[in-house]
Amino acid sequence: MSNGSVDAVGVPTPRVAILGAGAAGLCMAMQLQDAGIHSFTLYEKSDGVGGTWRDNTYPGAACDVPSHLYSFSFAPKTDWTRKFPEQPEILAYFESLVDSHGLGPHLRLHTAVTAATWNDDDATWDLELSNGEHVTADVVVSGLGQLNLPHIPDIEGLERFEGTVFHSARWDHDHDLAGERVAVIGIGASAIQFVPQVAKDAGQLTLFQRSVNYVAPKPDRPYKPWERWVLRHVPAVRKGYRASIYWRFEARFALMRKGNRLGRMLQERFGKEIAPLVSERLPAEALVPDYTPGCRRILIANDWYPTLLRPNVEVVTDGVAEITDHSVRTDDGREFDVDTIIFGTGFRSTEFLAPLRITGRGGAALDDVWQDGARAYLGVAVPEFPNLFMLYGPNTNLGHNSILFMIEQQVGYIRSLLVDMVRRDLAAVEVTPAAMERYDAEIMAAARRTVWAEDCHSWYKTDAGRITNNWPDYTVRYRRRLRHRVDSDLRLTPRRSRPAPTRTPAPTTR
Ligand code: NAP
Repeated sequence: MSNGSVDAVGVPTPRVAILGAGAAGLCMAMQLQDAGIHSFTLYEKSDGVGGTWRDNTYPGAACDVPSHLYSFSFAPKTDWTRKFPEQPEILAYFESLVDSHGLGPHLRLHTAVTAATWNDDDATWDLELSNGEHVTADVVVSGLGQLNLPHIPDIEGLERFEGTVFHSARWDHDHDLAGERVAVIGIGASAIQFVPQVAKDAGQLTLFQRSVNYVAPKPDRPYKPWERWVLRHVPAVRKGYRASIYWRFEARFALMRKGNRLGRMLQERFGKEIAPLVSERLPAEALVPDYTPGCRRILIANDWYPTLLRPNVEVVTDGVAEITDHSVRTDDGREFDVDTIIFGTGFRSTEFLAPLRITGRGGAALDDVWQDGARAYLGVAVPEFPNLFMLYGPNTNLGHNSILFMIEQQVGYIRSLLVDMVRRDLAAVEVTPAAMERYDAEIMAAARRTVWAEDCHSWYKTDAGRITNNWPDYTVRYRRRLRHRVDSDLRLTPRRSRPAPTRTPAPTTR
C-alpha cells in the first residue's frame, strides 16, 4: 500500500467532493493537499468551518478529551490554555487550519450537498447542491460524522408551547434566561455542561432526566505560564505529553469489555460516594445509574452535583408525557409551568449521512441498504457505492479516546486509495460484498462482547439494539488495520478506454 504523494506535474487527479468542513472534512482536505491532490472542493452548509464545534456554542461547551490530544498529529496546536479545551479555543484551532493550509480557495460555504447519484457509465458522482446546481465529482468523501443532526423528540403538544424552545446545538444566545422558569429535557453530555451555567441565571430550573449518567471528576485547570512555554517551545516534551495522554485513555477500553471487574468496582465505588447526596428531594433514582459504567458515555464535570443541590434546581425522573401552551406534563400527571424549554436530547446519531440522498450502482439507495442499521467496511466504504468514502462513519465512534485519532486513520486510508487511483489510473475503488460481510460479522461479534450491548439506552445503538456507532476494540488495532490495506477486499477498476478525468481544480459544474 502506498501512502505517498502524487507527482504534481502533468498527472490528472480525481475531482474530490468533500462534504462538510468540520474536523473530518478539514483533515481530508489537508491530507489531499499534502499528497499533491488539489482538485477538491469542501462543501459546507453553514457560514464557516468547525462542524460540531461551530454548532455547539451553548454555555460551558467543552471537550472531554484533553487539549494536547485534541488536534491533528500533523498540525498540532501548541498553545492550549487549559488541560481540557473549551469550545471557543477548539473552534479557533479548526478555523486557523484554513489559512495555515491554504484551504480557502477550496471552500464553498452556504452550500449543502443534498443528493449524490453514481453514474456507472463514466464512473462519476452527480451531486445536487442546495441551490439546485449540479456538479460532477469522481470521488465523494463524507465528513458529516455522527453528531450533526439535532434530535428533538416528538412530544405531543410541543408545537402549541407559547414560550421559547431551542436545542442545545442551536443555542438561542439572544434569549435571556435570567429569572425564568426553564425546563431542560434530556440530560446527557451536553446538558451536564450547560445546566450548571443556566442554573446560575434561571429563577427555577427543572431537569427532565430519563436516564442517569455516571459523572466523574474532571481534572481540569488552566496551564501555568511555564507549562505553556515548555509545551509550546519544546516539541519533544509536547509529543511525549500527547503520547502519555493517548495511552492513558487507550487503556480505558478495558472498561468497555462486558463483565470486566474494573466496571463492577467502579459501580460500587460510585454508589458509595454518591450515597450521602441521596435525599427526599434527590432520590437514588435521580443519582445512581442502574447499568454498568461505560454502557452509556461516562461524563466528566466538577459542577454537576453541586448544581443538583441548588435550591432553584429540581430533578424530575418521570417521563415527559405532553407539552401544553405554558407547561411540561409528566407521565404521573404532574404539571410544571415554564417559560423556556431547552432540549439536551442529543443527535440523530444512527442516521448516518441523513438527510443526504445517496444512490449507488443500479439505483440502490443507501437508506435502503442501511434499513437495519448503518454498516461500512472499516467505517469507510460500502459495496455498490464506488468512490464513496466516509469519515467518522459507522462503528468508528469511541467511548474512551479521541475521535480525531480515528479520523486521521480514515483520512490516511482514503488518501492512500486516491493516490493509487492516480498512479494506477483507476476509475473506481469499491469494497467487495464478501469483505463487507466478513468485516461486519467480526465487528458485530466484538460489539456483543462490550458493555454497550448490555441493557441500557444509548445513542450508540439503534432501537433494535444493533450497535452502529462504536468501534468495539482498542484504537491501536483500528490504526493497524487501516495502515495495512488489504487490496483483496477491494475491487479496483482500471480506467481502460475511459477518458482520463480532466485536470480541473475542483468538481465541475454541469
Ligand atoms: P446524549 O448524550 O445523547 O444525551 C441526550 C439525552 O436526552 C439522553 O440522556 C436521553 O435519554 C435524553 N432524551 C432523549 N429523548 C428524550 C425524551 N423524549 N425525553 C427525555 N429525555 C430524552 O446527547 P448530548 O448530550 O448532546 O451528547 C451527545 C454526544 O455528543 C456525547 O455523547 C458526546 O459524544 C458528544 N459530546 C461531547 C461532549 C464533550 O466532549 N464533553 C459534550 C457534548 C457532547 P435516554 O438515554 O434515556 O434516551
